[in-house]
Amino acid sequence: MTAAPQTTPHCAVCGSPVASDAPRCPSCGLSRPAATGSKVLGRKGIWLMLAVLIAVYVVVLVIVAAAK
Ligand SMILES: [Zn+2]
Repeated sequence: MTAAPQTTPHCAVCGSPVASDAPRCPSCGLSRPAATGSKVLGRKGIWLMLAVLIAVYVVVLVIVAAAK
């Protein structure tokens, strides 16, 4: 594997390379929440995902219990 460890992210709209820590695309000005909000999503997203998983688990349990 000779792939570079750091990959330059590309803008989702215009496709031009954007620095990973740039809040906006330098070409089209698209704001990149992934660059600035990754840490917020890291902590909040984990709990949100956990809550969704528990909710799905409970729903499946209720469906299985109701089917019997
Ligand atoms: Zn762009």
